[in-house]
Amino acid sequence: MRRISIFGATGSVGVNTVDLINRGGGRAAFDVVALSGGANIALLAEQARNLGARIAVTAYPQHLDELRRALEGSGVEAAAGPDALTEAASRPTDWAMSAIVGVAGLRPTLELAASTRVLALANKESLVCAGALLRARCAAHKTRLLPVDSEHSALWQAMNGEDAAKVRRLILTATGGPFRTWSLAQMANATPAQAVAHPTWDMGQRISVDSASMFNKALEVIEAANLYDMPAAAIEVIVHPQAIVHSMVEFCDGAILAHLGTPDMRAPIGYALNWPDRAPLPVPPLNLETLRQLDFEPPDPLRFPALRLARQVLAAGGGHGAAFNAAKEAALDAFLAGQIGFLDMARLVEDVLDQPYVRAVITQIPRDLNTVLTIDTVARNAAEDWIAKNKGLVSD
Ligand code: NDP
Ligand code: MG
Repeated sequence: MRRISIFGATGSVGVNTVDLINRGGGRAAFDVVALSGGANIALLAEQARNLGARIAVTAYPQHLDELRRALEGSGVEAAAGPDALTEAASRPTDWAMSAIVGVAGLRPTLELAASTRVLALANKESLVCAGALLRARCAAHKTRLLPVDSEHSALWQAMNGEDAAKVRRLILTATGGPFRTWSLAQMANATPAQAVAHPTWDMGQRISVDSASMFNKALEVIEAANLYDMPAAAIEVIVHPQAIVHSMVEFCDGAILAHLGTPDMRAPIGYALNWPDRAPLPVPPLNLETLRQLDFEPPDPLRFPALRLARQVLAAGGGHGAAFNAAKEAALDAFLAGQIGFLDMARLVEDVLDQPYVRAVITQIPRDLNTVLTIDTVARNAAEDWIAKNKGLVSD
């Protein structure tokens, strides 16, 4: 029986993963080692009971009693806190999903890289903050790292069986998010509720706001560079509002291979789950007759500065990715809390990367987790200073 674990099981990617596991036979077909969640204890307990997990872990110690009560009589072990997450991630599995949101997913992901055979990676922040470290750990433990991000899964499928040296360009598609046609002035006053309303993908709150600002695409450019060893200049972003072409690869002979499908995260999750095989998935088939049209347009660098920042991060290397992500996460929290405006997020990130005391720590290449976390803390502190100085100032 295949042993599996799902970290971030109660989130958007996690719930889709659990859905596929249930459709694939649930506890009768899988030996579920560990499930993790955060504050949604009722869902975590329900998933753990249904799948007969050996352990369920909440990231938050204050929820341990509630989790214990919810699991009473089930035989599922309950645990809480960062150390429990790490311990659960160290338990051997054949396949593991890393779908915690943010840098909080980094430590468990590094642990999974050493304990599982196949690591399905949704937590792109791990690659952005510690790409070299994660890849080295996977290589040392002969763990196969599979992308779950739909764009990176598309690139990987298009490159299947091809010689990587013959790839000329990776073309990442972006939907453009809810503000694709908005003016700068409108975007300056955008509210969190407007930013979360993604037109095509149903995702968690944080990644939805990142899609609206294109910080998500910025993270994905860095993710692609790390996954496929490509220079920033060979990674292009094109806006494609229908979200049908999930990404494309251009080869040295000019051929472009694209991956098309209905936007549904169960497609890339299922590909990673069934890899190296393919199996039917509960994804509605694509109807080209009703679709009729696919549009493409270049992203507007003025309204979406995050893409330019991603290229600067890749050019600078070292710990810039970790600082970029930390500043971006802090900016997102401040925007969701109503402290700063939508466009301030990119301003904050750019200013933080420019702070002398941040620059002093990000020139070093993060070779261990502690260095990454130190950079993360320094950048978050700089972000807090920025927010304290600028909050409440309406800027456009
Ligand atoms: P969600 O916010 O929906 O879920 C996040 C998961 O992580 C939940 O299980 C949540 O628990 C848990 N969690 C939240 N904070 C912490 C923490 N501090 N420590 C440990 N666990 C925590 O996120 P998504 O599913 O949208 O995204 C997950 C990852 O996948 C992200 O890295 C995202 O960028 C990536 N991704 C997501 C896609 C999508 O379609 N959603 C597409 C491509 C990539 P709880 O909810 O119980 O509090
Ligand atoms: Mg994506």
